[in-house]
Amino acid sequence: MVPPSKKNTIDFDAARLQRMGYSESRPVALLPVTLSELHRQLTLQLQTSLEVERILEVFFREVQRLVPLDAMTFSHPRSELSLQFGARGTHSASYNLNQAGEYMGELVFRRNQRFDDFELGQVESLLSCLVFPLRNALLYRCALQNALHDPLTGTGNRFAMNQSLAREVDMAHRHSQPLCVLMLDLDHFKLINDGYGHGVGDDVLRAVSVALKNQLRNIDMIFRFGGEEFMVLLSNTALEAASLVGERLRSTIETLQYLSQGQAIRMSVSLGCALLRPFESAESLTRRADDALYAAKREGRNRMMLAG
Ligand code: GH3
Ligand code: MG
Ligand code: MG
Repeated sequence: MVPPSKKNTIDFDAARLQRMGYSESRPVALLPVTLSELHRQLTLQLQTSLEVERILEVFFREVQRLVPLDAMTFSHPRSELSLQFGARGTHSASYNLNQAGEYMGELVFRRNQRFDDFELGQVESLLSCLVFPLRNALLYRCALQNALHDPLTGTGNRFAMNQSLAREVDMAHRHSQPLCVLMLDLDHFKLINDGYGHGVGDDVLRAVSVALKNQLRNIDMIFRFGGEEFMVLLSNTALEAASLVGERLRSTIETLQYLSQGQAIRMSVSLGCALLRPFESAESLTRRADDALYAAKREGRNRMMLAG
């Protein structure tokens, strides 16, 4: 009998795959199957994830039980997805995937031998198993993107910022790694709105966020903190390196010229920079970076101040 305190946990994703004879460590060599059996197995397997990468990885692996492939690529520009599985191949067969008028990306199969009609027929038949799981995964990805990004600038939103900040502070304390925060606020931005209109103000905010992103590494995180304020999280970065980044951002915005009807709009940004202290909370770190930012405003703007 199971003791009353014992809780049983089932990882459905792994359990289902295992029941069907699959596991993470399973060797790549797969037994060949009939088309109808592969249809049945693929349909079940593709239901076990909402991740585009995972779904396509399973599809690529399983299709090879009937049709040998060297590579498969998938691209869906609207989701900023460009994925490659396997190596390269000289022959290709490509498919534009559409469902109910919705473009779901392009899949290209590659290998070093020609595809014959029979094989292409099998691939096309198996694609029907992929369409709905892929559509659901793309919708899920889009919903996640919308939940975490600011629609105007495409930077992370406040919700994403709070989550990332809490996680990064926790990681920095746990691994004794430095973490810096930059708070940025555009100078006299109200004048741009007043002088050129809110629409131009929005365009300027977009241009500023693109310029800022271009100056950051992939692992740096940028969020829209408020109207014309941004936060940059620099993990595993000490104060000296963070102030170099801050200075680079400041000079980038100073040299940025936004053209509105032939007229160049110039702007500047003030910054506050803070290094996480031992045992410090996310709130305290944010407050110190914000205080440093307001000190930079008081000192005359277009500058960066380090938090005390
Ligand atoms: P300071 O140098 O002291 O920061 O001056 P500022 O004018 O930038 O600051 P203030 O806080 O007085 O004004 C911020 C302005 O940012 C006012 C507001 O209309 C504008 N703003 C906030 N969000 C948006 C937005 O989404 N689009 C546009 N166009 N303007 C925005
Ligand atoms: Mg401002
Ligand atoms: Mg402001």
